[in-house]
Amino acid sequence: MSKPLAAYDHIATSEVELKDVSVRLTSDAAVAVSAAVLEGGENDERIASPAPALSRAKFVYGILLFLLASGFGMIGIGAYWVHGTVGVCGTKLEASATFSVKSSGSSRSLKGIQCPGYDWTSQRTPSTAGAYKIDTSLPLTPRFGSAVTPVGLETTIKTVGGTIGYALNGAAIYANSDMAHNNALEAEGASFDMCGGHNSPTFPVGIKTNPLFPGQYHYHTMPGVLNPTSYSSTVAAANPEYCEGVKAWYQANKTGHSPLVGFLFDGVPIYGPRGSQGTVPTDLDQCGGHADDGLGFYHYHFRTIYPYSVECLKACPAGPNPGLKASAKASGCDTTGQTQYDYSSLATFSFTFGSGSDRHPANYGRSATVLVFGLVIFLTSAAALAHLKGRLPSSLCVSLFARLGVKSGSSGNRVVEVEMA
Ligand SMILES: [Zn+2]
Ligand SMILES: [Zn+2]
Repeated sequence: MSKPLAAYDHIATSEVELKDVSVRLTSDAAVAVSAAVLEGGENDERIASPAPALSRAKFVYGILLFLLASGFGMIGIGAYWVHGTVGVCGTKLEASATFSVKSSGSSRSLKGIQCPGYDWTSQRTPSTAGAYKIDTSLPLTPRFGSAVTPVGLETTIKTVGGTIGYALNGAAIYANSDMAHNNALEAEGASFDMCGGHNSPTFPVGIKTNPLFPGQYHYHTMPGVLNPTSYSSTVAAANPEYCEGVKAWYQANKTGHSPLVGFLFDGVPIYGPRGSQGTVPTDLDQCGGHADDGLGFYHYHFRTIYPYSVECLKACPAGPNPGLKASAKASGCDTTGQTQYDYSSLATFSFTFGSGSDRHPANYGRSATVLVFGLVIFLTSAAALAHLKGRLPSSLCVSLFARLGVKSGSSGNRVVEVEMA
């Protein structure tokens, strides 16, 4: 059934040194190679097992493996870049968020590291909290347009979740929905830590609509509280040891208005659940805010009942915001947005969270491991691909793929026989 491969007739019939043999295989279909080592020109006695079939399918497989390995390699490089340059949030109780909010000109600048400032390791996503730098600004005096910007669950359009603002410790405030527009508390609450936060996925998802940062620590509901519905009756749900840095937000004076928690992208401040009477306000509008509550300006509240956070941004959001669909931006903001409230009491607002000490060690070890892992797979499959294209030395090819048996102590010339199936 076998016939000699024409180009290798001399191999089949001649005695040659193995190192002189150059077996170059093409991607032609259904080529089977069997090789044998004969010692000293003896009879045609095969001592090697038949080599595996080398077909177009295997060639394609090699290419796919190569592409897959390339992907791993790039992921490794990406992970190295992300974690190597930014680092991982501290995990000690006294971890610093090193975050500051200051006013300058017509904007409020937010600078620092996006870390919660406490031990985040009780959250249950497989991600680590990436210590992302933040240097952005929000409107100092919010302008209100003719329409609102939907960001929440109860919207006619499908909002895509993601960042809608920042808490005063630098951690991101996400919308109350996840990226699939599900109720985030229901869909993701199981992975929240004792402070109501958790990390976004390790690898970027939704890059087109909402570029999440891998491992970005964030809140969907009231920061500092595991279960926002328990807030109104007790503060016991939150663990002060975990939430050391933000306990002031939930240990509010029950006779007064909840303290400031952060700012959303329209520059409007957001507070804890209690109004000026120390009770949950009943006059919140469709966005989750109100103006007539002793503060003198429009503001939002986190809520102890569904939908737990804001449903829309009442004022004009600053710039293109990653947490919002461009098409969802409120109309009228560019032309008719007006300042309506006096935010001067917050104009000189300055807030610094954390001691500023460095608690964000770069995760070089893990990212380097991923990088090396990717490179090894990449190089291995590249070698396999090179072999399939006949790029490697024949001796290596034969030993790797023809599984040529070599007897110990063999000497003299060897004959390599190549057959076609
Ligand atoms: Zn989340
Ligand atoms: Zn209020």
